[in-house]
Amino acid sequence: MSTEKGTISINTENIFPIIKKFLYSDNEIFLRELVSNAVDATQKIKKLSAMGKYDGELGDLKINVAVDKEAKTITISDKGLGMTADEVKKYINQIAFSGAKDFLDKYKDVDDKNPIIGQFGLGFYSAYMVAKEVEIHTKSYQDEPAVKWTCDGTTEYALEDIEKAERGTDIILHIAEDSEEFLEEAKIEQILTKYGKFLPVEIEFKENVINNPTPIWVKSPSDLKDEDYLAFYKELYPMSEDPLFWIHLNVDYPFNLTGVLYFPKIKQDFQLSREKIQLYSRQVFITDDVKDIVPEFLQLLHGVIDSPDIPLNVSRSYLQADGNVRKINSHITKKVADKLSELFKEDRKAFEEKWDSIGLFVKYGIISDEKFYDRAKDFILFKNTEGEYFTPEDYKTKVEALQKDKDENTVVLYTSHPEKQDSYIKAAKKREYDVIVLDDVLDSHFINTLEQKLEKVTFKRVDGDSLDKLIDKGLNEESVLSDKEKEKVEGLFKELAGNNVVEIKALSSDDAPVSIVLPEFMRRWTDMSRINGQSN
Ligand code: ADP
Ligand code: MG
Repeated sequence: MSTEKGTISINTENIFPIIKKFLYSDNEIFLRELVSNAVDATQKIKKLSAMGKYDGELGDLKINVAVDKEAKTITISDKGLGMTADEVKKYINQIAFSGAKDFLDKYKDVDDKNPIIGQFGLGFYSAYMVAKEVEIHTKSYQDEPAVKWTCDGTTEYALEDIEKAERGTDIILHIAEDSEEFLEEAKIEQILTKYGKFLPVEIEFKENVINNPTPIWVKSPSDLKDEDYLAFYKELYPMSEDPLFWIHLNVDYPFNLTGVLYFPKIKQDFQLSREKIQLYSRQVFITDDVKDIVPEFLQLLHGVIDSPDIPLNVSRSYLQADGNVRKINSHITKKVADKLSELFKEDRKAFEEKWDSIGLFVKYGIISDEKFYDRAKDFILFKNTEGEYFTPEDYKTKVEALQKDKDENTVVLYTSHPEKQDSYIKAAKKREYDVIVLDDVLDSHFINTLEQKLEKVTFKRVDGDSLDKLIDKGLNEESVLSDKEKEKVEGLFKELAGNNVVEIKALSSDDAPVSIVLPEFMRRWTDMSRINGQSN
């Protein structure tokens, strides 16, 4: 075949500026796309071979990426199925005519162990975000001459026969002046590692294989031990403490999703630990911003989600509208709740020991997600000042005989600062009341949610004005102060507190001669506005 000239068929006059500016927000994506194509080509030749449609040697199927700083090129080479001249015309010249889709349609009934990444038929052209000219050297597995395709980013291309010994494709990018940063090996290595760390075919760069082609989420849970999960966690987050437990996700209906979510030790400043979930699509890294895919409280988890059903390269608003994304979202919520429930039932003691971390997470879920409450209500725990744990139901049974208000609501007494409120706690205990500890940042919201959910239960802080409104234990407390003294002390404190809702209780002398209380509604209002103020 002599050199053939022709016109690339596209409907707009020139799609390149559009691709360059709008299709991908980030131009480093070109490497993800080209390496993904090389992976696809490799998976396809494996598949053809497995089906008996190719009987040549598969050979070493590693993909190689090389930078030539002098020639100002980046070359991506694979030993995949290659393309004939006709296929180049069909799959490359016709933009948005995806060969991957063609291949899938043709072989869709064949059981698929080697997933294929491409879908849209636009990925290849992302090369022009960084290249002023692109060459394709390719030799098909079929017995046809190798060809070279060249295009400088206009709609003109050239196609000619060449000598190429090995099956497969080399994509050679002639890097544009404004993109020479991509000629730095360190930069390429960083991008390859970011997007290709878990690609299913070995990727070689400077003689090193940069990826782990079989990460644990593609394996079957029954083949994995705890050590494997812990080792993978370390691979993802080398600096982190071991996680508390994990969930291996594996769904194939009504959408495809695999992954491993880890439950970290959550600290009080959990705001800082977000953006730890990585989203993959067929083992290609997509993003670590999973805001639209994973409910907010689940973003505290760490790990990997892989789903081919989450659309690639699309804007955020599309992600939100996508039906699969919503389904994935509620599936993950359900799985997490199921796992917690299982842990609770299997080993309640161990669950209690982890409650400091789990509790923060569960509370966050309950506050922010109605559905999660329904699943979580059976493993919510209250810890009392004696260090004993109760579910809300059990707790109600435990305290209701003694702790009722005049409306017959069971009163849950709690402390928000066990040390500072020690004298109040002692006073409550003296009346044989029980006090639970609710001392983390989410607790005022948590209490409000529980009051709406639990029937005939009300929460009162132990330093509130409520102790003496509970069923009278007949302690017959005599104040050590006379009425006159009481009035005087009250006046003094009111002046200091600058607050005329303060009330003074003079208790009997053993633990505290005087205590200042604030009505529950006042206190809660102050707490809530403090927290809301913080999070804004
Ligand atoms: P997609 O990958 O979504 O199909 P691309 O624009 O990335 O779209 O690629 C278009 C088509 O070009 C592919 O579907 C494939 O048929 C062909 N192609 C691209 N790169 C290669 C390659 N390295 N080897 C073989 N075929 C390739
Ligand atoms: Mg592609």
